[in-house]
Parts: sequence; C-alpha cells; structure tokens
Amino acid sequence: MREPLTLIRGARVIDPAAGIDAVIDVLVGPAGVEMEPRFVPSVARRVDGRGSWLLPGLVDLQVHLRDPGLTHKEDQLTGTRAALAGGVTSMVVMPNTRPVLDDPALVAEQSRRADERGLARLLVAAAATRGSAGQELSDYRALKAAGAVAVTDDGLPVLDDGLMERSLIACAANDLLFMQHAEDTRISQHRPMAECEVQRAAGILGQPAEAEWVMVERDVALAEQTGARYHVLHCSTARSLAAVRRGKERGASVTCEVSPHHLTLTCNDVVKDGIDVPEREADLDPNRKMNPPLRSGADRRALVDGLADGTVDAVATDHAPHSASEKAQGFARAPFGTTGLETMLAVLLRFVHDGTIDARRAVELVTAGPARVLRRQGALGTLHGTAAPPDLCLVDPERHWVVTPAALLSRSKNNCFLGAELRGRVVGTWLRGRQAYELIP
Ligand SMILES: [Zn+2]
Repeated sequence: MREPLTLIRGARVIDPAAGIDAVIDVLVGPAGVEMEPRFVPSVARRVDGRGSWLLPGLVDLQVHLRDPGLTHKEDQLTGTRAALAGGVTSMVVMPNTRPVLDDPALVAEQSRRADERGLARLLVAAAATRGSAGQELSDYRALKAAGAVAVTDDGLPVLDDGLMERSLIACAANDLLFMQHAEDTRISQHRPMAECEVQRAAGILGQPAEAEWVMVERDVALAEQTGARYHVLHCSTARSLAAVRRGKERGASVTCEVSPHHLTLTCNDVVKDGIDVPEREADLDPNRKMNPPLRSGADRRALVDGLADGTVDAVATDHAPHSASEKAQGFARAPFGTTGLETMLAVLLRFVHDGTIDARRAVELVTAGPARVLRRQGALGTLHGTAAPPDLCLVDPERHWVVTPAALLSRSKNNCFLGAELRGRVVGTWLRGRQAYELIP
C-alpha cells in the first residue's frame, strides 16, 4: 500500500491555467493539493522533486482504447495504465470500437466502468453517424445526455457536405464538439503513405496532402456558418493549419491538435532504420504507418511553427494500438496507427530542449490547451480546478531513456519511436490525489 499523503519538495510547479511557474512544495492527498503546506503529517511520504517538474495531469484529446470489442490490441485497464505512465490522467476515447459508440447506453458505460475501477478519467467522443457509416446522424441530444463531450467518426470522415452541415447544426444545438478526421477518401484512396520520393522508390501508392486540407477548408467554412465548435484531429498539413488559423482570425470556433509523430517525423522516416534508399515495400517500417501519414518536411515545419505561434491548441497522441501480428502483415497491408501515450510528453519536450517553445507553452499544449478545446478549463488540466482532488504528474525533464517494447505498458508495442532515445520522463502520476503510477528505476 502506498501512503495516501505525499509531500513533493523542491519541484518546479508549472500550471499555465493558474499562472503558476515556481518552485513550490506541494502536499498531495485524496483530500486535495496544498501548496507550501504549513503542517505536514509525519506519515506523509517525502519525494525529492528537485530538478523535476510538477504538472497538472495531462489531457489527451484522442485515444483509441479498443474497448469494447478489440481488446487483443488494448483495453481500458492496459490503456489507462499506459496513459498514467505517460502522465495522462484524462483522455477522450474514440468511438471506433466494436460495437461503435453510437448508443447512449454504451457511451455512459465507458466512463462509468472506468470510474468504478479507479482508472483514469475517460471522456467519450460518440459516433457522429449511426455505426459511423456516414449516412444518418446519431441522436446527439441523447448522446449529450449520456455524457458525450464530442462526436466524431474518427478513422472515417463525414464526406457528404449536406450531412456535415446538419451534423454541425446539431452540434451547435446540443453544445457538442465536432472532431473531424479530415480525409477525403475519394482523394486519399486509403493509400498507405504520403505521396513522396520514398513512396515512389519503394513502389507503393501514395496519397496527396490535398486529401486532408480540402476537407478542413470545407469544414472551417461550415463551422463559421453554423457557429458550431469544430476541431481538427491530428492536423498534419501546412494548408490545413493555415485554414484553422484563418478560421480563428474570422472568429469561428475552430481548434486543432497535432500529434507528436507529425511534429517530429516526415515521410523519409518511414524507411526502416539502417536502409538508405528504399527499393521495396519490405524496406518500410509498418510502425511508422499511420493515418494521416507522415508528411513532407515543409508540412512538419509548419506544424512546429503552429506550436510556437499559438495556432495549435493541443498536442494529442492518436494512441492507436495494434497487435504485432497485425503490424507484421507488411507495410501495405498493416493497419494504420502508432501508440503514443507513453512517449507524448518526452517527444514534445524536444521542442523545449531545442528552444522552439518554453516549458510553460509545452505544458499548456497538454493541459490547459486541450481542456479549453473541451470547454473544461477550470475542471481539467489545472491544479486549481474544480475537479478536487486534482491529478498531477511529476516529470524529470532531463532523464534519458530508450523506447523499447519492454519499457512500454500498453498491450501493443507498435510505437513509431521504438529504438529512439528520448529526454524527459514521467516519474510519478497522481490520480484524484492518490499515487497511481511510479517509475521503477
Ligand atoms: Zn483519425
């Protein structure tokens, strides 16, 4: 049994929502958090936080827990354990489970089951259309009443213009966020990677960046017309980001997230380590096959600029576990997706270490930023919120570690950073004031 009370001494507390960036002793317990406590009970466990950062529990806007129905990839227990190891205490779960989360009872069941088991906080993005089939809207009023925070057909876009408009009108009426997986599949043709030299050299088919931005441009215009809250999931092209920026300037309720992999990798990185020039499909790494695909260097740089200039609202993982046998089918046949819960923060910290953004902005992108997208600022992503007792994570920003299958708690090990050395690691996570994760050195 862990002690219920912990005193974390000497850590740099960074809570952008509360305007805190200072070295403060913090007492954490099931009753709440106390800054600079005057009295510390002798039973409190002491943790030396010097050199570490103490942050609000991270909020991830896009996670696939695969539960129910696809639990050979991940389930609520393994997925939330991986999340806590990455400092993530709140996450929006995607509806592309089996069955699809288009039913209010299934939506309510998700967070209730997680709460009963003492797992991380789950928020549910319900299916935007029945069965995510893109034909008929699901019942937004009932889904909202069941606790859904958003609707999406993630993995699948809402292609039909009229249906998308009706969906946004219903979102506005029910105060639901629309989260779009922006991909015009008539253009992308479900091709396994981005159009680029690597794809041509390896002799496989590529999808143009246009498949994403045409849909974002359409949607931003519709969001402006309808007044709905619209969010671009895993925004990956320069032109999509420009559309979001313009929408914001015009006053539309448009937000976007970017993923750690699109910020750091390009289509050149799809080539397996150790191979200079790819000649065949087998020279490509299925763990670096995701949708949207890794794009050009220019797209990647535009996303990084968006971190710095404030256009990007949040960094989110699109944690997408797949079993080893599914990923072993070869690049063209393997399913799209990489895991990310356990590597997100360390990958984001690269941009702090290289001076692109400061620590406060990096923390904002995974706490206050996503909370604002969900309109849960003040409840999630801050130590001073209404969610008492709050969640916290303690991070050693200098700790080096190598991403190996053994280092990952997720049931699936398909992480695109396998083999990479990262700098920065979560060493402890507290959920509702109780320690829920500790890194074993
Ligand atoms: Zn997606």
